[in-house]
Amino acid sequence: MSKTVFYFGEGLAEGDPKRKDLLGGKGAGLAEMTSLGLPVPAGITLSTELCNAVLAENKSVRDDAGVRDAVLTALARIEASQGAKLGDPAKPLLVSVRSGARASMPGMMDTILNLGMNDAVAEGMAKKTGSPRFAYDAYRRFIAMYSDVALGVKRELFEHALEEARHGVARSRGIDTTRYNGEELRRMVPDSELPAEDLRKIVDAYKAVVKKATGKDFPAEPRDQLWGAIDAVFHSWGNHRAIVYRRMHDIPDSWGTACTIQSMVFGNLGDTSATGVAFTRDPSTGEKRLYGEWLPNAQGEDVVAGIRTPHALSAAHAGGSEKETSLEVKMPEAYKAFVAVAEKLEKHFRDVQDIEFTIQEGKLYILQCRSAKRTGRAAVRTAVEMAKEGLITHEEAVLRVDPSAIDQLLHPTLDPAAPKKLLARGLPASPGAAQGYIVFNADEAERRAGQGKPVILVRVETSPEDIHGMKAARGIITARGGMTSHAAVVARGMGKACIAGCSAIHVSYEKQTMAITVYGEDGKPNETVTLKKGDLITIDGGTGSLYEGAVPTVPAGLGGEFGELMVWADAVRTMKVRANADTPLDARTARGFGAEGIGLCRTEHMFFEEERIAAMREMILSDDEPSRRKALAKLLPSQREDFIGIFREMNGLPVTVRLLDPPLHEFLPNDDKQIEALSVTMGVSAEKLRQRTKDLHEFNPMLGHRGCRLAVTFPEIYEMQFRAILEAALAVSKEGVVVIPEIMIPLAISKAELVKMREILDVVKLEVLGADSKLAFTFGTMVELPRAAVMAGELAEVAEFFSFGTNDLTQATMGLSRDDAGKFLPAYIESGILPKDPFVSLDQEGVGALVQMAVERGRKTKPNIKLGVCGEHGGDPASIGFFQKVGLAYVSCSPFRVAIARLAAAQAALRAKAQS
Ligand code: ADP
Ligand code: MG
Ligand code: MG
Repeated sequence: MSKTVFYFGEGLAEGDPKRKDLLGGKGAGLAEMTSLGLPVPAGITLSTELCNAVLAENKSVRDDAGVRDAVLTALARIEASQGAKLGDPAKPLLVSVRSGARASMPGMMDTILNLGMNDAVAEGMAKKTGSPRFAYDAYRRFIAMYSDVALGVKRELFEHALEEARHGVARSRGIDTTRYNGEELRRMVPDSELPAEDLRKIVDAYKAVVKKATGKDFPAEPRDQLWGAIDAVFHSWGNHRAIVYRRMHDIPDSWGTACTIQSMVFGNLGDTSATGVAFTRDPSTGEKRLYGEWLPNAQGEDVVAGIRTPHALSAAHAGGSEKETSLEVKMPEAYKAFVAVAEKLEKHFRDVQDIEFTIQEGKLYILQCRSAKRTGRAAVRTAVEMAKEGLITHEEAVLRVDPSAIDQLLHPTLDPAAPKKLLARGLPASPGAAQGYIVFNADEAERRAGQGKPVILVRVETSPEDIHGMKAARGIITARGGMTSHAAVVARGMGKACIAGCSAIHVSYEKQTMAITVYGEDGKPNETVTLKKGDLITIDGGTGSLYEGAVPTVPAGLGGEFGELMVWADAVRTMKVRANADTPLDARTARGFGAEGIGLCRTEHMFFEEERIAAMREMILSDDEPSRRKALAKLLPSQREDFIGIFREMNGLPVTVRLLDPPLHEFLPNDDKQIEALSVTMGVSAEKLRQRTKDLHEFNPMLGHRGCRLAVTFPEIYEMQFRAILEAALAVSKEGVVVIPEIMIPLAISKAELVKMREILDVVKLEVLGADSKLAFTFGTMVELPRAAVMAGELAEVAEFFSFGTNDLTQATMGLSRDDAGKFLPAYIESGILPKDPFVSLDQEGVGALVQMAVERGRKTKPNIKLGVCGEHGGDPASIGFFQKVGLAYVSCSPFRVAIARLAAAQAALRAKAQS
């Protein structure tokens, strides 16, 4: 292994700060900030490679003599720089041991603070700082954190001693503790008000808890603590929550985490000390202003954990009385220093930064910086504004915005005109509107959502253990915590609506209710509403508002900065983006989102309407050609009208119409009443119809009588559809509409099938258009079966275009039934056998290889054959990157994903350009 231990301190950092893959995001950021001359406490980063080695061999870092010596040598450098020593009571050094992966995974892995504490060191700290309270508070926090992370002792076991002490203090102040719940008592007697004597006792009680739980004394030797902590941090890569997070964000298991050992600075040394988190721009809206929160006399994790509600950073953005508690007013010098650091970091990294800082007795320290997680809205706004400020280029702006994040922008918002009852208002932590049934815990959220119920997860606060429930919920509300609390950060990352710090709600997990004090117009409380599990509510994360019941929504518009970004994107894009649309309304929506044609118009959806399905059934159940033709004649006019409507909407743009595809039995009557009715119209006995229905049953319909196989047996079906398409095209072209029909045959496996279909079409063509019509159309096929991909060279002799139907192609290539895979596919992804759901993101190596083969073979026969894709994958950014590589002319996806696909296609083009 190459170098695994990297020192940073006194303005110098080992290792290349660009190597996030090696140092982790946190380690790389600390190294870079050190080199920039920012006040960063000295430390050491152990590489992700070391983590992977430790995990693979299941060993301890201390077992490797080389690594151990390197760590101890680097530790000696930290000690020299700080004038303190790990474990020395006279000059104690305490360190944090922090996790940090290549990609930011906030709170998903473990960090241990105040390491190096033992009885003698605590006494030494007490003397040195003059504050036994501080020393023992740090000590008890360390025992709890270390035991939880490194010794596997559950956190709850430590709560009893702490709460007992709190009750004692409360009683000594004359508070009747029986009248308040734990939550209320914590507010009345916060941790910071427990006296030193009590904290000493708590430390003893904690040690006893550890002894009881593990059978061993809590490790008093700081070096033992250090090795144990490093191992634990590395192993936290394998935490359940970290794994869930990786799956959700497509982070490979093979990356591993780095581990940073850093000398501690203390934000809890009294009123001139503090800790906080800030964003250089508003992570919710993208507005350019320093945005952050801080807590006086507190340690880092207190802000994120939402244990106390923090104050605003700058006075200008704090509302009313909050001004007085802003950092700008309370500690103007430190505030100024921080503003300068924030500006420097944003300029240097040329992106919005998320910064952790601590102020120890008036002096500012920076503990972390990273590109800020932000909502889709903020991502778009900051990218566009930074390009206009000249900080980044237009192309960089296009690359900055994650295409899947703009999904949020395209989602509906609450209908402003709809009547609604406002129940409460909290912090607008993550925008979007969501309606759902109340649940109070993560497991239940997951279970209910699994049953198809929309849920809103309501918590006092969330912790990383709740991640699966947050993922399952439509939206999240917390009673406590600020804009940088766990709930807020994670929700923004997921693009979920979230209200944080909604203090008007009082949650009882025990009763599974929340009581809300509702205030009237005059600002006075005028009623209490109690909602229980299963009640419907609506949240608006953009305003922080909670409403009763389900409030109707309206679709989003695409203007402003988003429109500007899309102009830049379209300028660099080389693939076209079309939409899958079956109705004139879909077609109009698609055009609104910028679709450049219809890539898939499915005709079967047109047959499900009341009167049409009757004619359809009549056609299917007929047992001779004349009666089939009679029924088809009834369908022709309505089918023609459908096409006329769509062609008009798509004036000037191509429309790919796919002929009837699904197995016929999908249209069959399913109850006696329907059969009786049919028997009357058709003049056939119900008995006979029942028999015919039975005959049509298939064991495996997806591999059965469907696609162009229908027309091999019943050519008159496609004949009618060809006629409807051409007659419609002729009619609208007479109105002056420019119509470009592309007629597409589904599920072909051979050239002979296509030849037969073409013959039927040519007969109809002659009848409808005559011999010398100017009306142009093309004839092509879907490539959606492995054999079609293999035979693409021959198919191209007849087909003028191919459209890859990657849903069926995935199903057939992998032998995975989409309707049944739900039972086992999750296990494949969970265990890493498959990296992603192949129906969501194209299996590039397997299915993709077939696509590539078909492209090559098709082009060999017909160099200018038109190639596109119309499966769900056409809207998936990763798959779009692949389609760019194989050289498709367009992708087609659902109307609501068109904007996402435009941006993804632009990024794919830019990446391809950068590579060549
Ligand atoms: P996470 O990745 O979950 O944010 P961190 O490693 O950043 O975990 O640490 C958790 C908290 O502890 C943060 O608020 C951080 O600022 C604080 N912290 C970490 N190391 C130190 C240190 N050496 N001195 C003071 N605070 C620290
Ligand atoms: Mg952090
Ligand atoms: Mg198909």
